[in-house]
Amino acid sequence: MKGIGVSGGIGIGKILLVEEHSLEYTPKQVSDTAAEKARFADAVEQFCANTREQAEALKKTAGEKEAEIMLGHISLVQDPFLLGEVDKLIGGGQCAEASFETMCDMFIQIFSAADDDVTKQRAADVRDVKTGVLSILLGIKEVKLSDVPEGTIICVKELTPSMIAEIKKENVAGILTETGSTTSHSAILARVLEIPAVMSAPDIMKTAQNGEQAVIDGNKGDVILSPDEAQLKAYTEKREKLMQERRELEKFRGKPTVSADGTVYELVCNIGKPEDAAKALEFDGEGVGLFRTEFLFMDKTSVPSEEEQFSEYKKAAMILKGKPLIIRTLDIGGDKDIPYLGLAKEDNPFMGFRAIRYCLKNRDLFRIQLRAILRASAFGNISIMFPLITCVEEVREGKALVEELKAELASEGIEFDRDIKVGIMTETAASGIIADMLAKESDFFSIGTNDLTGYTMAADRGNSDVSYLYSALQPSVLRMIRSIILAARQEGIPVGMCGEAAADPMMIPLLISFGLTEFSVSAPSVLRVRKCISGWTKERADEVAEKVMQLETVQEVKDYLGSVIL
Ligand code: PEP
Ligand code: MG
Repeated sequence: MKGIGVSGGIGIGKILLVEEHSLEYTPKQVSDTAAEKARFADAVEQFCANTREQAEALKKTAGEKEAEIMLGHISLVQDPFLLGEVDKLIGGGQCAEASFETMCDMFIQIFSAADDDVTKQRAADVRDVKTGVLSILLGIKEVKLSDVPEGTIICVKELTPSMIAEIKKENVAGILTETGSTTSHSAILARVLEIPAVMSAPDIMKTAQNGEQAVIDGNKGDVILSPDEAQLKAYTEKREKLMQERRELEKFRGKPTVSADGTVYELVCNIGKPEDAAKALEFDGEGVGLFRTEFLFMDKTSVPSEEEQFSEYKKAAMILKGKPLIIRTLDIGGDKDIPYLGLAKEDNPFMGFRAIRYCLKNRDLFRIQLRAILRASAFGNISIMFPLITCVEEVREGKALVEELKAELASEGIEFDRDIKVGIMTETAASGIIADMLAKESDFFSIGTNDLTGYTMAADRGNSDVSYLYSALQPSVLRMIRSIILAARQEGIPVGMCGEAAADPMMIPLLISFGLTEFSVSAPSVLRVRKCISGWTKERADEVAEKVMQLETVQEVKDYLGSVIL
């Protein structure tokens, strides 16, 4: 069976089906509305007290930030509008249960209809609050998960943060649910507590039996009920290996990213949504090196307004609290289509009207995005990055527009970072060849190896027939990378890499040798990359790079690097 793996690791244990208590009741009319209001107020107070206790518990097991999830429930239940409306309903003669449930259901409906995950998550929070308060009103003892025996796989329809708050991590081998996904609060908590978890496993409450042995793979989302001997053995071994690796990596949490001879690097993350900034921090990233803004556009049916974009960029900046945030301007075309923009069908979209080319020709759209980014820059450490640069004119034109918009905002009295940095992605062969010229025009470079490999090798990144050519370890691509880094160093500007290659253990010694200053990787790779960097001195990396740069085929490069990587 397959669900969504939301918290990594292998869980092996016995299923405990946690059935929800029925919260059914017969709605009554009340005549003593004052007494009913008092009964409701008591229940809310009791709920807040319970929740505060759970938050305290979470603070110890997970941390301050995670405890805030529970404290958020208190703010929810104390929302003046909600309380005011419940008060009116009770005043009209409805019982407290029905009044509160009506209002909660209204919020749940509104939040569930939203198309962003964060607002959807609010619906789950309201459901959690509703269950908590109704259970108190109905005198039902909520399911207690604090006493489950060791090696339990908790199986529940919907896992709420309050359930997680009660869990004793050492007794829970895994979590299995019928609803929920990666971004739900419970999933975040499961990750922080390092409990393997699979969510949205279809009908699991019906399929699984109490006490049945089960294996879950929190990375892949696999669920095996009643595994056979061989499966059990294979997964036990896998679990041991993963746990060992994790223990090793955890030593690097909260530490700076530094090589064996003391050079400090910046290790940041690639994100696609503002909320991913929180994920970047959760995985110990030091900021964001690439915010791919096209996802904000893809989720919509028309171009998001300046206000909408501003609020999204500001959200990411606020989450990062002064840590770097590099926002890449719209990179559509190629493999990324946005239907409502009505891009013409092209014979060769990767070489066509895309990214910076499209934006410079569609000034209104570009202005909206740049104004939104500039306005958000008042709230954090934001930089602007242009994609797919091939010539100096593109950088100059883009920067001129940024200057024009700065003047416009200043005349409107709107705050922005006057020293905002404007950098470029070096991801085309042209940009690699004229990197020296581009370095004079840019505040920083970020090497996009995903495209750079494709454009250098003339090999489409999605075409399996030419995939044997598509490797960032090709001698040609390595030379391209080296010359881009050298050009940046000569001009004294920072140079990062945000393509997938930045997290490749084979690539890392070469990047250290060439002089890369920033690695931007997917959040789950952060600790692994930090560990890898910590194993190299510049001297040893130089020896390796010198040898590699003499090798003539990609296979030789891979074989050699394979023999020397740590
Ligand atoms: C790249 O090309 O390496 C890159 C990081 O950008 P994207 O993958 O979004 O094209
Ligand atoms: Mg790219």
